[in-house]
Amino acid sequence: MSEQNLKEMLVFYNKKQCSNENVGYSPSAKKPKLVVQAWKQSGYPVNIQKIRALSVEEISVAHDKNYVKGILGGKIKNGFGNKSLPVAKSLQWTTGSFLAAAVYAYRQKVSTFSPTSGFHHAGYSYANGFCTFNGLMIAAILLKKQHKAKQIGILDLDSHAGDGTANTIAKTNSGDFVRHYSLGEQEIQKHNNVEWLEHLPNLIRENFDGSDVLFYQAGVDCHEDDPEVYAGHFTTEQLYTRDKLVYTTCKELNIPVVTNLAGGYQKPLQKVIDLHNLTAKAFQDS
Ligand SMILES: [Zn+2]
Repeated sequence: MSEQNLKEMLVFYNKKQCSNENVGYSPSAKKPKLVVQAWKQSGYPVNIQKIRALSVEEISVAHDKNYVKGILGGKIKNGFGNKSLPVAKSLQWTTGSFLAAAVYAYRQKVSTFSPTSGFHHAGYSYANGFCTFNGLMIAAILLKKQHKAKQIGILDLDSHAGDGTANTIAKTNSGDFVRHYSLGEQEIQKHNNVEWLEHLPNLIRENFDGSDVLFYQAGVDCHEDDPEVYAGHFTTEQLYTRDKLVYTTCKELNIPVVTNLAGGYQKPLQKVIDLHNLTAKAFQDS
């Protein structure tokens, strides 16, 4: 691949979305910085875009306001199971990263990246499984309310069910404009994952054709070696194929894609970073 063929990667990132506090098992608080570094080191033309922290009002479009205030005030445990104020503050930036990436993609009709995780288990008024605020649903609702988006797709290919997203769609009556597919709700294992992957372009066409923008959770915990793998059990090569099929199919359908990182728990963390790097390669190759 020659240099002039490389595609610019618009990455909505600020170091404030990372927290240095110990958040236990999940690497998501320090992953953004490492992934952005890895993308740059691989020679991809990363263009860092400005983001801002979301307000209580903005986050509350997808959540109970008392829950939002409780989290940000350190009164309610966040998705990491603590009441840390610095961690809570960083969540206003992770959701801000995703919203900024979503608005830009929608308005400019170009694909963007939000190096974030920890959204899809967060429900309307609860935190769960490393997730506190549902950045996907905050962005979907704000895109409709403030930018008149008509149809938003959420393609969640993390290994686990997007149960928090489903809860938030129901509680906010967003089912009429949000299309949601979650790999983690499917029984996809070694014996049928080749078939699933072959069907992925059709799955995207059937679920998301006509969407103004697609939010893509490019989780890598569906890798066969991940200690938390549930659905998927993909090889490294299959994960690359997955990402490439998402990007090429969305290009064919003219849908800009907002990619985020979602889950990945292999040790050492470099294995997870390498898989997220493959997502960037798939984007370049499609
Ligand atoms: Zn997961």
